[in-house]
Amino acid sequence: MKKDNLTNNRESKDIKLIEDGCITIIAGPCAIESLKQLDIIAKKVKECGLSFLRGGAYKPRTSPYSFQGLEHEGLEYLKEIGSKYNLRTVTEVTDAEKVDEIAKYTDVLQIGTRNMSNFALLKKVGKVAHEKNKKVILKRGWASTIKEWLLSAEYVTSRGGCEVVLCERGIRTFETYTRFTLDLSAVPVIKKLSKLPIIIDPSHATGQSDLVIPMCRAAIAVGADGLIVEIHHNPSEALCDGQQALDPKQTSEMLHQINKISKVFGKKIR
Ligand code: PEP
Ligand code: MN
Repeated sequence: MKKDNLTNNRESKDIKLIEDGCITIIAGPCAIESLKQLDIIAKKVKECGLSFLRGGAYKPRTSPYSFQGLEHEGLEYLKEIGSKYNLRTVTEVTDAEKVDEIAKYTDVLQIGTRNMSNFALLKKVGKVAHEKNKKVILKRGWASTIKEWLLSAEYVTSRGGCEVVLCERGIRTFETYTRFTLDLSAVPVIKKLSKLPIIIDPSHATGQSDLVIPMCRAAIAVGADGLIVEIHHNPSEALCDGQQALDPKQTSEMLHQINKISKVFGKKIR
């Protein structure tokens, strides 16, 4: 393809997910529930000085009886609210056939833990992310080794190249007190084996809001490049994952603590 064509395909608003000297904090609800819900939460994200809003439209739920997301309607709300607050948006892609559609509505394509080994999806995301200059978050499969995870990342990066960020979100162990077991050692291991940045998802790893802030602190201390955290204006009413969502007060407290820890390492939060 001629260079001109490539440039024309690229969107002008280029902002990297991860920047040197910074800790990227992505925050937002597990699922987009309504325009109003997303508006309230995005306003909080903006007031906190952050740049990335997360929100699931297509939700890969373990139970078929759980809320499955607003699907296309959710994508429209995400785009509208992202523009309203000038926030970059992150949403999950669950199906190769939906990647083109979803890429029209979001800046970052998230591949969830259940799809880390969905190679058709990885290839499609890599192609679309390259062509449309989208960023990619690749979560670790909850039963996948670090080597398998890195090979999955190569499925994405080998389709022309795009910014890929790994996300450790907990793996399954014999422990049942927490939802999963957060493998913090994955951070220094990834730093040793790969040039890819790595962020931590303490929300899905622990499944409990009171454990989220301590694991955020640990993530920054161990060298993670960022965090993706579920927040909600009213967790008890959330349609999805309310038990692990930070309320507005806890969100401010999390940022206050992470700001202090980041400074120790000469980094600023964004
Ligand atoms: C999510 O981030 O909404 C999600 C479903 O995460 P995971 O794929 O890690 O379970
Ligand atoms: Mn969730």
